[in-house]
Order: sequence, then C-alpha cells, then structure tokens
Amino acid sequence: MRWVESLRNIAKGLPKSRVELRFGKTALYVSDIAEQYYCEAKVHNQYLYGDIETPGKREGERLHESIRMVATKIDRIIKDIKERGYTIVRIPLWTWRGDVVICGKPDFIIFQRGKPSYLVELKTTTGKVGKIWRDEVLQVMLYVNLLEGMGFNIGGTKPVIIKTKQKFHPEVYNHMIKTLLSYLPEYENVQRLEEEYKKRIGLRIMKTTILEYEDKEVEEALEWALDYWIGKREPKPTKKRKKCEVCEYRDKCVWYKK
Ligand code: SF4
Repeated sequence: MRWVESLRNIAKGLPKSRVELRFGKTALYVSDIAEQYYCEAKVHNQYLYGDIETPGKREGERLHESIRMVATKIDRIIKDIKERGYTIVRIPLWTWRGDVVICGKPDFIIFQRGKPSYLVELKTTTGKVGKIWRDEVLQVMLYVNLLEGMGFNIGGTKPVIIKTKQKFHPEVYNHMIKTLLSYLPEYENVQRLEEEYKKRIGLRIMKTTILEYEDKEVEEALEWALDYWIGKREPKPTKKRKKCEVCEYRDKCVWYKK
C-alpha cells in the first residue's frame, strides 16, 4: 500500500523542491497557498516583513492548542487506520506537485475502515460562523489533494470546515470539538448539537460545513498559485478595500492605495 510507505516517509523528513522558490523556500505550505486566494500580496508581505501578531491570530492559536491529541507513533497510526473501524488522526501530509513539494498539517483526519472519510479544518471568527470564504474552502480541499498524492483512496472523502466563535474557554472548546467530531458520521446529530448550543447560548456559536471535493478546482488553483512561487509573475493584491482596512501589513504594503 503506497499510503503506508508515504506515512513512514514522513518520519524521514521533507525532501527539497527541485526548483527555486521565492524566499528560498524548499517546500510550500497549503496554508500559504490558500492565503494567496485571500490576498497574495499579504503572503508576500508576510515573508518579506515576518509574521505580525493580531488578536484574531492569537485567539485562533489558543483554541487550536486546546484540542489535546495523544502523541502516537507512526506505526501505531498505520495499524489503527488499517484495523479500526473509526479513528481520528492528526498527521503532517506532503506530496510532489511536479518539482515542488507541497506540505501541511490539517487539524484532523477521520478514517473509517481504512479510508479517509472526513478531512476537518477548524476556523474561528468574530463574524458569522455560517460564512465560509474561498481561501478556507481551498485550504481544506488542498489537504484532500495531498492525501491523494500520498496514495490514499479519496473517493468519498469529505472536506469539512468547523467554524466557531472566538473566546471559548479551552476546556469547553476541547469538549465541544471532540463531541462534534465523534458525531460527524451522523450529520443529523451534528446539526442537532449545533441547534442545542444555539438554544442554550442564544446565539449561533458554531457551524459545520461539509463540502464536496472538486479536483478540477484544486488543480487550477494550484497552477495559478505556483506561478507566483516560481517567479513567473509578481504578487497580486486583493481588490477588496475592506480586506486592506483590517490588514496588519497595511502600513508596509506597497500595493495599498491610501
Ligand atoms: S494592505 Fe491590502 S493589498 Fe496589502 S497585503 Fe494587506 S490586504 Fe493585501
């Protein structure tokens, strides 16, 4: 099985891309590629000036860190995927796209009877939990594409985005997300749980969106994104003024029109 070999290869470390990439990168992160669809100039600025913390990023990281997973050796993960009817794992993924290595670490992958059935990304927001953006959709789809590149059978794999309001206590968040994940194969239960939270709190605090994997969309998105990394074209700034208004790179951004 090719996926077994791919998982074992993870422990050996990432290979280096065989072409020169911007900023001396040797592999591209799925999160950066997705972010190019929010504003490519922002990705460029991020590498040029370094990461700038924002309250939103801090809160997202805090909640992500609150989801506890037991560290497990790769051979045990392989055994669980093969033998257990249902298992949730958090593993790094990587694959080749031509001469470029693409990698990333999705939040969770749920395997059922040896196949990845759900690939789940957690997102936090101060806005509406039901609103899903193109870069978020692409991110989760790109992870499914990596799974395929590693030899997994992705026929029927659903990309999933769970979006929640910020400001949860970590313990509450950990409990809520784990309950949702265990309910995912029975989507009606997920909806019931979300409604229950809404009733109890008087506000919609989470929304689980199950998507369909679109191979063509991912292929086209990758092609466009890679042209920037291999230097075929300059970064493209967003045309949406609203994004610039809340951008942490606004003061440094040469594309921002005052
Ligand atoms: S200021 Fe606007 S164009 Fe510049 S990086 Fe931010 S969002 Fe992109």
